[in-house]
Amino acid sequence: MTLETSIQYLPGVGPKRAALLGQELGIETVGDLVHLYPFRYIDRSSIVRIADVQPDLALVQVRATVQKVRLFAKNGAELPAEKLKYNAVSRLSAMVADDSGEMEVVFFKGVKWMHERLVPGNTFIFFGKPAVFQNHLNMVHPEVDAPDNSNTGVLTGVYPSTEKLKNAGITGKVMLKLMATALNEVLPIVPETLPDYVLKEKGLVPLTFALRQIHFPVDQASLGKASYRLKFEELFLLQLSLLKQKYIRSHNAVGLTMTQVGQPFNDCFNALPYELTGAQKRVIREIREDMKSGHQMNRLLQGDVGSGKTMVAVLSALIAVGNGYQACIMAPTEVLSQQHYANVSKYLQPTGVRCALLTGTTTAAQRREIHAGLQDGSIGILIGTHALIEDTVQFKALGLAIVDEQHRFGVEQRARLWNKGYQSIPPHVLVMTATPIPRTLAMTLYGDLDVSVIDEMPPGRKPVTTMCVGESKRHAMHNFIRDEIAKGRQAFIVYPLIFESEKLDYKNLQLGYEEIMKVFPLPDYKVAIVHGQQNAQEKAFNMDAFVAGRANILVSTTVIEVGVDVPNASVMVIESAERFGLSQLHQLRGRVGRGAERSYCILMKGTKVSKESQKRLDLLCATENGFELAEEDMKLRGPGDLEGTQQSGLPISLNIASLAKDGLILSDARAYAQHVLDQDPTLQDQKNAPLLKELQRDKYKTKDYSQIS
Ligand code: ADP
Ligand code: MG
Repeated sequence: MTLETSIQYLPGVGPKRAALLGQELGIETVGDLVHLYPFRYIDRSSIVRIADVQPDLALVQVRATVQKVRLFAKNGAELPAEKLKYNAVSRLSAMVADDSGEMEVVFFKGVKWMHERLVPGNTFIFFGKPAVFQNHLNMVHPEVDAPDNSNTGVLTGVYPSTEKLKNAGITGKVMLKLMATALNEVLPIVPETLPDYVLKEKGLVPLTFALRQIHFPVDQASLGKASYRLKFEELFLLQLSLLKQKYIRSHNAVGLTMTQVGQPFNDCFNALPYELTGAQKRVIREIREDMKSGHQMNRLLQGDVGSGKTMVAVLSALIAVGNGYQACIMAPTEVLSQQHYANVSKYLQPTGVRCALLTGTTTAAQRREIHAGLQDGSIGILIGTHALIEDTVQFKALGLAIVDEQHRFGVEQRARLWNKGYQSIPPHVLVMTATPIPRTLAMTLYGDLDVSVIDEMPPGRKPVTTMCVGESKRHAMHNFIRDEIAKGRQAFIVYPLIFESEKLDYKNLQLGYEEIMKVFPLPDYKVAIVHGQQNAQEKAFNMDAFVAGRANILVSTTVIEVGVDVPNASVMVIESAERFGLSQLHQLRGRVGRGAERSYCILMKGTKVSKESQKRLDLLCATENGFELAEEDMKLRGPGDLEGTQQSGLPISLNIASLAKDGLILSDARAYAQHVLDQDPTLQDQKNAPLLKELQRDKYKTKDYSQIS
């Protein structure tokens, strides 16, 4: 038997159970089984005195002697022990005691077997969840073991399971048994996956020890060593694979060499109405180094909302133009593309560089003109939605592709940009995101990219006062908006739009709009509305009215979430705030605090707010730092659910390590992977043969991330 042997040949499995294990847990081979780790352990090493049992304890174990056993019928009447018919019994109740106190154990099933077993005067280990019922301590359906049972004195693993598995008799106990059989079969032949020197340098236990102890720990210390080794290995191999890809790309992928800064850059730079922040300058230097290196740039630019990424994009695009190439900036929505276009055009004025906007609503005639301009090179910068990755859009010499708010783009869409390069050399790629991602997640999601961070806000950014209020404050909220409008300010009111209940959401939005129209009537007030069911013209008309200051209030869905810049807006009201994710709330809040003296974010919460949602809202009131929020969000929800990551997903799914909890191991594993590659970049050294072999496994090949970012 090897790790690759089909699970059905493991003694105790067979074809039926094998099919079920495959279907329910994805276990096809014996190897899959031994790599299914317990997700928690029950400590059966300690026996609790009945007097010390607290009903809120999870699972406890007591050693007690049976005092008295009684049987009850469905109607609650006690049944006499003589002439007993077991099918009339609905409940068995036994009083058990140790020298500290007594407790009731109750069985509704398996009554006959328990009645025969629980003979008064005999002592057992009862293992289960304590509760209080009618003022006394009880335990329903505990496990009952003889006191010398070998289960005691160890940590027992609990494996993932499903109803179907349990119904088919694959209980926790059966899993443990299968695991023991499998380990005995394969442990003698399991090859070590990490080279000796790695084990030594990192102080890791061997794989065989780790596998044995992760399933059947002899004590906490051994379990700790086993789990550390397996987590380190998982994160180390993942980082090794990402960093190796990065190395190969940066050494092999030819890039367009852009040696000059160029006149357009200088013209724009010299006319800037403000000084760039230190962070903006640093990031532009990093980008400039990439663009002249002769290797293709693949850089992620992370910067909190309002940190000034647009300027970085414009100056980078101008470097490309100054070297005789073109650039494109792709944004996720029509509104955003338009706003980018308006901003960028303004910045380009002193440079004479021509820029065009291409979206879904561009007319055929305009399109023809743009296509011509792209092909003869007279258009230097193209801005647009995904309309600009259509095959008909051909550049004369595309040198740089900038993707804004990348998490809204699918992976294939980005791949299409790749093919628009000059003489089949792919363009440099700059991906910008305002979704702050926790460091550990960034290392993994973008482990093969270079990352630049704008960690400094432009001067003049005002703090936003955030408060969370309920329905009773709606009237006060309206008055507050009225006061702000009287000061010449504008307000956003945002409604959630959650896919599953789209119809309902629009109803809410519509009702909200009507209410606002009543509270803020014409001609004193103007209210604009923007949502996804409007056509592009309607949307643009309403949006423009707000941006230009003709409308005092903008009622909308989250279409305004990213990018939209209205410095005069000082209030952001978010309706049903509990229905938004933390990072989305943070993005929305970032729409204010851009100009006005003081800005406010008012989170309106519904009547039913879960504890977790309340925590999110509290966090948001407590800090404005996007990275801090992202870290907290990950702790709250685990990385799998983080917004902005569902689409891209993790490059591989982690089996034992957690990005939320194992950040330190991850940093260490990444640094060590880099250290190994520094000495042997392509892992050709004999001593690294086991690593190379591991990296050839399918899971590291599922997607070539170097081709899509
Ligand atoms: P984001 O990173 O969210 O895309 P923007 O590029 O929209 O941020 O910039 C936010 C605002 O800050 C804009 O109004 C922009 O003009 C302004 N801004 C950008 N850089 C600076 C700077 N160095 N000094 C002052 N204001 C700046
Ligand atoms: Mg932006």
